[in-house]
Amino acid sequence: MFTKLLFNKQTNYKTIMTQTKRIAIFGSTGSIGTQALEVIAAHTDKFSVEILTAHTNDELIIKQALQFKPNIVVIGDERKYQKVKEALAQTNVKVFTGENALDDVAAMDCYDIMIAGIVGFAGLTPTLSALENGKTVALANKETLVIAGDIVMRKASEKKAPVIPVDSEHSAIFQCLVGEGRNKIDKVILTASGGPFLGKKPNYLVNVKRDHALQHPNWSMGAKITIDSATLMNKGLEMIEAKWLFNLKPEQIQVVIHPQSIIHSIVQFEDGSLKAQMGLPDMKLPIQYALAFPQRLASKFPRYDFKKPNTLTFEEPDVKTFRNLILATEALSKGGNMPCILNAANEIAVFAFLRNRIGFLDITEMVERTMNKISFIANPSLEEYFESDGEARNFAASLIQM
Ligand code: NAD
Ligand code: MG
Repeated sequence: MFTKLLFNKQTNYKTIMTQTKRIAIFGSTGSIGTQALEVIAAHTDKFSVEILTAHTNDELIIKQALQFKPNIVVIGDERKYQKVKEALAQTNVKVFTGENALDDVAAMDCYDIMIAGIVGFAGLTPTLSALENGKTVALANKETLVIAGDIVMRKASEKKAPVIPVDSEHSAIFQCLVGEGRNKIDKVILTASGGPFLGKKPNYLVNVKRDHALQHPNWSMGAKITIDSATLMNKGLEMIEAKWLFNLKPEQIQVVIHPQSIIHSIVQFEDGSLKAQMGLPDMKLPIQYALAFPQRLASKFPRYDFKKPNTLTFEEPDVKTFRNLILATEALSKGGNMPCILNAANEIAVFAFLRNRIGFLDITEMVERTMNKISFIANPSLEEYFESDGEARNFAASLIQM
């Protein structure tokens, strides 16, 4: 349904394309945010930067603001506000901080497209605020859809605000769906690299430490998603993300391990035809595609070379070892607040693992115990999602002390 809105001829993208698109980057100091700025820097005739936000990295956001001259900067950490304000005193940049600053700024008129590049739960309410105001959202923050996908997509639909995926698998699916507006999807196949521990068994994983888990073979990303990739929770979150973006039933979403990360995902149609989107693993491509949609812009990104010998392989995920995929599939099938609970417990567990407080296999254990503990709600309101998130976080955190 939502895809139809995006590809609807009445949705007039032409008018936007003749003007500069004004971009708001939420999470500009992160991996997605900095790559988005690289894309924009290469196309200053097409895009301008209007809003930059960061949680704590004052030095980088000051540097970014001096280079890109946005309208507004938000620094989350109030202790850093004075420093950022002083550093930008000679410019016209307005600086905000405080609890509601992100939601307030997301509601402002001064931009066209939000890049939702904040990590975790914190990305939810600014994205909702952007959609409420009819903004196009280029969505990297998958947690937003995992937590409250029904509410987010309903809001987008109600306000005719396009949600364009940035996550590479979902961008791949989205690109495969261009021109297929009337054709039903049989299923989607999400590809997963398998992460740094592909082929490993629990007796190995039990001793895995933070620094090893942070070494992803193909992608360079923020710490949280890198750990999620190592545990395969990332693919689990992406299954739930795909459900909401493309209006799919759980049984229409399959995961396949493809260690080379060249095929970014596949759509199978009712006639059995498979369409895939390919390229070297580089997030700048899906970021640029989302910003320029429905146009494709020229790029200097490195290209896949068919002359160099390379084998593309596919295998079934080892769900006995990487049980997060089973937990996420359960949450996907159960629906309601279960994905929100899964996400909250996972955020706490990953945070604890990154601080060497728990072991690698404890992450799954904590998520499973939290899913078994917190009360199930079939049709939660936004407030109930917040409550479930809070309860799940508290319970998961209580497991760490033991
Ligand atoms: P990151 O850790 O590199 O950056 C996170 C950004 O969010 C930073 O700018 C930080 O200042 C901001 N932030 C963190 N906590 C915040 C809070 N409490 N309030 C406000 N701002 C906060 O993360 P990333 O790798 O860029 O990932 C961002 C999102 O994009 C995640 O949801 C991730 O799953 C998704 N994603 C990332 C990639 C990738 O290649 N990095 C790929 C696909 C999807
Ligand atoms: Mg992805």
